Amino acid sequence: MPAFLYDIIRRRMPDGAKTFIENHDGRLITYAGLDAGSAQLANVLVGLGVAPGDRVAVQVEKSPEAILLYLACLRAGAVFLPLNTAYTPNEIAYFLGDAEPRVFICDPAFKDKLASVAADAKVAHVETLGVKQDGTLAALMAAASPVFSDVERGPDDLAAILYTSGTTGRSKGAMLSHDNLASNALTLVDFWRFSASDVLIHALPIYHTHGLFVATNTLLLAGGTMLFLPKLDPDAIMRLMPRATSMMGVPTFYTRLLQRPDLTPEATKHMRLFISGSAPLLAETHREWRARTGHAILERYGMTETNMNTSNPYDGDRVAGTVGMPLPGVSARICDPDTGAATPQGEIGMIEVKGPNVFKGYWRMPEKTAAEFKVDGFFITGDLGKIDERGYVHIVGRGKDLVITGGFNVYPKEVEDEIDAMPGVIESAVIGLAHADFGEGVTAVVVRDKAATIDEKAVLSALEDRLAKFKQPKRVLFVDDLPRNTMGKVQKNVLRDTYKDLYAK
Ligand code: AMP
Repeated sequence: MPAFLYDIIRRRMPDGAKTFIENHDGRLITYAGLDAGSAQLANVLVGLGVAPGDRVAVQVEKSPEAILLYLACLRAGAVFLPLNTAYTPNEIAYFLGDAEPRVFICDPAFKDKLASVAADAKVAHVETLGVKQDGTLAALMAAASPVFSDVERGPDDLAAILYTSGTTGRSKGAMLSHDNLASNALTLVDFWRFSASDVLIHALPIYHTHGLFVATNTLLLAGGTMLFLPKLDPDAIMRLMPRATSMMGVPTFYTRLLQRPDLTPEATKHMRLFISGSAPLLAETHREWRARTGHAILERYGMTETNMNTSNPYDGDRVAGTVGMPLPGVSARICDPDTGAATPQGEIGMIEVKGPNVFKGYWRMPEKTAAEFKVDGFFITGDLGKIDERGYVHIVGRGKDLVITGGFNVYPKEVEDEIDAMPGVIESAVIGLAHADFGEGVTAVVVRDKAATIDEKAVLSALEDRLAKFKQPKRVLFVDDLPRNTMGKVQKNVLRDTYKDLYAK
């Protein structure tokens, strides 16, 4: 029987002997292996009592089998629920309690710690999966039949729940349907021109939408090959480039690779496409990459709840500092965050999106879901931005990062762009900190070149005639590095916490 997304994957599958994943240890998973392995795992899941709609929670290190497990969930009609490998048992307790999975699969090394957490959450089965085809799940898989009759699933049935990173309050489970994933991947295959001859360097985690859905589903529907690295490893990436055609990365990938003298046009000449997303790519990084390699990085914008929303064009201008235009089938508009009314063209406001890519709501949070959708079906992304006269979307930051000082709104990116353009500055983050007189005080946290002498006074005086007085930082602080999560996002909440008493009297 057809299981909506897997059925599309199967119909587009290339010759079975073709490699789907080449793992960093040399192990190959062919398309035939993918089909047989995911059938084996689907049989294991059904054997553990997994019924259609049941959640399967997974906290394991990156491996080809973890991808097969995702596909097995699609085929068994289960809901795949990947969890960040950095989550502690305390955090896992929340996710298992909230999602009530039938099965929890964890790293063999953590079984002892996590079994009691799973038992408290009344999870029926705990199995383990390691990176070397080890663990109890791998053993069950080896003994299972490679033939499976897929459970029927329609476009609106849930395929996955991905929890948002939850920097404010509890993290929310974004419910993604088979068609949310299928429609977006089909669009990306066409828009980014992926084909069976593509070989993608995959060094992203697979518990997040970027490495799991954007990369994996797109390559699967193109019938291409992925070169799997456990994590960002610039040496390995440089070694793989002559055999690869494409890479998807977060901005950190590009800044780290730019530090290498061997990044040249010659080293990247076999590559056709470099894609960046999940966090803002500095315009400077975009320019430097082009100067060093001849390639214009293609920046796109998406989120866990919506899959991909916008992308710079494949042909045509890939404009540094923008995330491009809405993808085919996706509508985007900018609205006033307070009144909800559409803003005049070119003005900053809340980015709202609608399309088959947009999720079905937050797991067991109907009020939160209702609060984030407009009556006409647009989803309020929480990102502030504008659309320029050519239709390119510019993101100026998360709504919650907006600084309100003395009653005025300050968009951090505007101040960051000015500071980043100063000689000697590598990057900056502008945050609002509690301030007795202003409510919030605009504060800049800056990373400078090791050799640079630029100081607080110099930054402030350079900004004097460039920004309105209320936008100028009250203080400029210097740090060696900005705190970032694995997806390359600057953790402004960490900065706000570190410096929370800066203006305390
Ligand atoms: P996540 O759900 O973890 O994928 O995070 C989604 C958020 O990442 C978005 O709402 C944006 O704030 C941010 N984001 C993703 N791509 C970009 C981008 N190209 N530029 C700026 N921010 C981005």
